[in-house]
Amino acid sequence: MSARVPLRGQLAALGAYHSLQVDAEVRLNTNESPYPPPDAWRRALAEAVGDADFHRYPDRDATELSRAIAALHGVRAEEVFCANGSNEVLQCLLVAFGGAGRRALVFEPTYALHPHIAGLTGMEVATELRGDDLRIDPDTWPAAIERSHPDVVFLCSPNNPTGRLEDPGVVAAIVDAAPGLVVVDEAYGQFSSWSALTLRDLSGGAEKTGGDGTEGLVVVRTFSKTWAMAGARLGYLVADAEVVAGCRAAALPYHLSVQTQLAGVLALRYEDEMTERVQKVAEARAQLAQGLGELDVETWPSDANFVLFRPRGKDAHGVWAALLADGVLVRDFSTRAHLEGCLRVTVGTPKENERFLEALAAALR
Ligand code: PMP
Repeated sequence: MSARVPLRGQLAALGAYHSLQVDAEVRLNTNESPYPPPDAWRRALAEAVGDADFHRYPDRDATELSRAIAALHGVRAEEVFCANGSNEVLQCLLVAFGGAGRRALVFEPTYALHPHIAGLTGMEVATELRGDDLRIDPDTWPAAIERSHPDVVFLCSPNNPTGRLEDPGVVAAIVDAAPGLVVVDEAYGQFSSWSALTLRDLSGGAEKTGGDGTEGLVVVRTFSKTWAMAGARLGYLVADAEVVAGCRAAALPYHLSVQTQLAGVLALRYEDEMTERVQKVAEARAQLAQGLGELDVETWPSDANFVLFRPRGKDAHGVWAALLADGVLVRDFSTRAHLEGCLRVTVGTPKENERFLEALAAALR
């Protein structure tokens, strides 16, 4: 440690969160879309950026973008908060509603950034294990909430890295029972058949004024996966207006650049193309799952754009390394608690999936 000021204790203990960025012929490790966004969007964005007033600060509340997202989900613009990727959305949310002296509850194994960002803000993190099927166990979550009395509960549906969709009844019951906020991270939401946004709709959607038991619900989404825009860095949450106001207070002034706001507004004009891409990925996921089913690996059903698998009777890290040597990069979870021996592969193009399956068959031999 050479810095004059030591790292804050929390950070030193947490370490950094990194997904390996190395050159590989087939990159299936970070759940990106294998397809680029539509050409027409790219042209429209180039034109809009060409005309933008770059000598002025951007709209601090991203009003047009928030309105467009609100229209997409049938809520009010005051119920939408946008930031640079859903990770920054979560960071603003926890700066506003987390912090020292407060507690988060996560159901492991889940997205590592949830406890990580909670810890960064100084929150204490309580952990409950998922059931054998890697979904939240309907028999154990009530006691976990009772015990930890969390200010913020993190759900992730479909869950990264397991791919499992949570039971809608369980999510609704947790929203009802939790004393504080319930964050449902739906980074992969459009790949699945159910969204927690329907809980808001059921309770009155745009007309809702709160006080009906769902005012703690926070649904987080991203443009990185289903919108094929990971490079644009744009995510958002849908929640009650008071929660959104808290996030806006916590965000830095003008945090969302002119070009990011334009990218989002214009993307929403290409919803059909996005849906088409999601459809293609969902079909390729079935191809991938079937291919994995023919190999000596354990897998779990996925509602997302990736599949978790565990090579049987093989050193998983060795399999990961053999895949990389063969030009295929997947995510190595083999030493992560509760995911021992597991790897995760992102759904690619049919050709990339074939390459992966061939390389995996060879690595398992
Ligand atoms: N939530 C989940 C569950 C994720 O898997 C990811 C990306 N790995 C994110 C949030 C963050 O996505 P982004 O910051 O690109 O919006």
